[in-house]
Amino acid sequence: MKRALSLVVMLALVLSSASVLTQPTGQVTLRVTLDGQPADALILAQDRFGKLFIAYTDLKELGFARLTLPQERYTLIVDRGAGFTGKPFTQEITVPAGKTIELTVSLQRAFSPAKEWSYYSADLHAHSTASLDGHTPIEQLVVVQRAADLDLVFISDHETIAGHELFLKTAQARGVPAILSEEITTPLGHWNAYPLNCAVTYAPNKTPKDYFAAARACGAQIIQANHPGSSSDGYFALLGAEIFDYGFDAVEIFNGEFDQGDAKAIEQLFKFWNEGRRYIAVGNSDDHDWMDFRFERYGRPRTFVRVEGEVTAEKWIAALKSGRAFTTYGPLVNFTAQDGKVLPGDTVTLSRGQEISLKAELLVLPRDPSQEEPRTLQSAQIVKNGKVLKTFTLSEERAVITLTDKPAERSWYLVRVVADDGDQAYTNPIWVEVQ
Ligand SMILES: [Zn+2]
Repeated sequence: MKRALSLVVMLALVLSSASVLTQPTGQVTLRVTLDGQPADALILAQDRFGKLFIAYTDLKELGFARLTLPQERYTLIVDRGAGFTGKPFTQEITVPAGKTIELTVSLQRAFSPAKEWSYYSADLHAHSTASLDGHTPIEQLVVVQRAADLDLVFISDHETIAGHELFLKTAQARGVPAILSEEITTPLGHWNAYPLNCAVTYAPNKTPKDYFAAARACGAQIIQANHPGSSSDGYFALLGAEIFDYGFDAVEIFNGEFDQGDAKAIEQLFKFWNEGRRYIAVGNSDDHDWMDFRFERYGRPRTFVRVEGEVTAEKWIAALKSGRAFTTYGPLVNFTAQDGKVLPGDTVTLSRGQEISLKAELLVLPRDPSQEEPRTLQSAQIVKNGKVLKTFTLSEERAVITLTDKPAERSWYLVRVVADDGDQAYTNPIWVEVQ
């Protein structure tokens, strides 16, 4: 169900350390900063034979890393942002036996959605070792999400909140807002409820409605339908059944790499929107393993939310609930209407014959550490009530698109953006009432 892998991922063969430690080794130490401040980062060291060592900067000492590597030549890559922040640092190094190489790495953001547009990102579906099928230690889940340059960190394990306390403590030590969730299973359906202050326990005979009530009682502002278009465990298969309950808030339209289930989720969400059911579109990685990039990668896709002033988990969640969000595999989009006064999630009331003027600023940054050439935008669409109103052909890294329209009746508009490698983004709708 996953599509072709990126170059760096194909090369990502993790060596068993037993086989390499018989060779003479040397050390590399790194001090990594982002825009001048010590920062979490991903480190890849690839030898001449294509073997790749994966590491992250230290949990305790922010931005510091010490790697022990076999004596060899390497291409060293230090990445922050997984293609959402700017170019990674790359350098050829030779690790001499018994010696230490010291490196200072100063990374810069090429573009900051937070600074420029007040959009802050999180990955609203992320597993740790608290999940039976999770391989990312709870504390490291904070490091890896920060290395992906997510502004808020998020935890959602299967049927447990056992990781919450340590996760929150780790995030607080880094001064990063944290959102605590749990992936709850119902007959045909997986749900991330957040924020949670208690556990929602699994019982196979409970209905979705029971679970929604239990999650609300634990403080949940948002109940998110995870991969609802999935053919194996997607909630939308229950549509039309008596057990189907509409009491959720968000729909995951991207879950890991884009597939048919995601396309189905989008199709159904458009139907909901046409019925006036204003669910929020979100997109998340559903990653389980920080050392394996073959399928999912923390922070890709991710959801950006517009928050004014200082960001807290509460403010971010409230803004998401009001629909001020877009979700993306890479392209960034600032969608507004009426000269910037109207944002996604807002409702504009027009008199009959009155125009709405739509505008979107678009941008895409290099995708991942293996990509030398900058990627570009390929196209953008303005979608009205589920149908493409206009397609724009694009070829640059940045673009601005505008369109005016005279809706004759209640309508919604969104922007879809596609980059030249197929990575896409969807905004949430701007809603229009016509008097
Ligand atoms: Zn999951």
